[in-house]
Amino acid sequence: MSTELNKSHLELKAAVGQFIQGEISASDLKHEAAPFGIYQQRNELFMLRVRVAGGHITTQQLRGLAKVVESHNGGHVHLTSRQDIQLHDIAPENIYDAVKQCGACALPFKGGGGNTYRNILMSPDSGFTDEPAPFDVLPYIIGLNSFLQQYEHAFQLPRKYKIGIFAKQSERGNALLQDLGLIATEQNGVQGFEVYGGGGMGRYSALGVKLFDFIPAGEFIRCAVAMNELFYDHGNRENRNQARIRFIVKNIGEEKFVELFQQYFTAAEAFANKLPADLNSPTLELKEFAAQTPTAECSAWQQHAAVSVNLNNTVAMTTIYVPHGNLTANQLTKLANLAEQFGTSFVRLTQQQNMVLPLHRSALPCLYDTLGSEFAELDLRLKSFKGNLTCCIGATVCKIGILDSPTMADKIAAELDQLFPLGSEKRDELLRKIITGIKVSGCPNACSAHPAAAIGVQGQKTKIDGKLTDVWKIFLSKDGQLGTSNDELLETAAIPTAIHQQLLALNE
Ligand code: SF4
Repeated sequence: MSTELNKSHLELKAAVGQFIQGEISASDLKHEAAPFGIYQQRNELFMLRVRVAGGHITTQQLRGLAKVVESHNGGHVHLTSRQDIQLHDIAPENIYDAVKQCGACALPFKGGGGNTYRNILMSPDSGFTDEPAPFDVLPYIIGLNSFLQQYEHAFQLPRKYKIGIFAKQSERGNALLQDLGLIATEQNGVQGFEVYGGGGMGRYSALGVKLFDFIPAGEFIRCAVAMNELFYDHGNRENRNQARIRFIVKNIGEEKFVELFQQYFTAAEAFANKLPADLNSPTLELKEFAAQTPTAECSAWQQHAAVSVNLNNTVAMTTIYVPHGNLTANQLTKLANLAEQFGTSFVRLTQQQNMVLPLHRSALPCLYDTLGSEFAELDLRLKSFKGNLTCCIGATVCKIGILDSPTMADKIAAELDQLFPLGSEKRDELLRKIITGIKVSGCPNACSAHPAAAIGVQGQKTKIDGKLTDVWKIFLSKDGQLGTSNDELLETAAIPTAIHQQLLALNE
């Protein structure tokens, strides 16, 4: 642990102690705790957001997290739409101990929130893609994360700085929504990245602009430093609502922004030609099972949950659907053990708040049965849409939220379950559009990424007949563009039917 890291941990410990003694307020504590991703919930307990670089986490770390939850409150973890994990309902007196225990599992909180670089996104199937991809980006994410954890200016920014590194061209849309988005590519046999910057979502959303068609792979840290320094110098430190990089682009125009970035890139020459120390991808020793004919139900599940990737169709990247992204400590431990039983030492977290793990294709019928028998209380096989539409944590937990997005998402899910029952042809036809295309946020901050969804739903309040009423706005997006809304405000009861109609229109 570096001196700086030690110092900030001690400051956190001191601030939490003062809060417990009543010497400082919750908002004073936020100043010290937010950069660790530690926020007070509406119920006065705390949420601790653990960084999981690229969403890649070992089964051992999952068990470690489960122990932290068990030893402190027996509450639950939440898989977030930025591939990290939140521990919920932690009492203030347990915060520091939980941070220390997670640190011992190599799971840091530093930069989980506040004005810092945030968790680095990755394609969950990087290294195992079914679509051609030039190389695995995981080592780059781990290398960049290790570098930035020690880079002081990455923790002194005007606002958050979001980076995503993706393995496939089909993820360009995601790259365009990051403050800095990189896509793996190759030029004349040299590995490198296509680079975008200045994108993001919130009250003002914007797509990023292209910064490089190609940079050699060794320039990726230089790129991240250049954007960090540009933001450090030019981000708006007076008005928090206009502090993100996309406002710099808005204010000076795309052309000037690209020029400005080039200046910072040139100035960051000292960070050129830095490759991660270890470029190896994780190795697999997947367990092979005796051939088994899957049931019709299992076959239908495989169609959406298991994507075959390589090695003569033997490896399947398999989704474990996690309703609302929530798991108890016991469920987390059982899933980690299960992954190991199938020969997998890690899982990947997805932006849809699920887990993905590589399996030998022959394991699928056995996994399907085990998920049903061992987790009877949890729908890990997507039998229902309930809990499986992407939504943010919502205003019952989030202190700055407006409406309860998970409840809204479940109302939409109930309507879709009724209209498209399990086993129906229409359900199979629409399933992927439903689980990847509908996103619900409890306020315009867009934590579910609803402005980029085919059908996005945003909660707010307005006065109707003089009474403050819950209302929702629908955003529609196509062809990789940001969603637009006709600004009509619909009351809660009208939303499920409206979404159903939009879904059918989308499918025409
Ligand atoms: S979108 Fe709003 S309600 Fe949802 S988590 Fe973000 S800030 Fe909270």
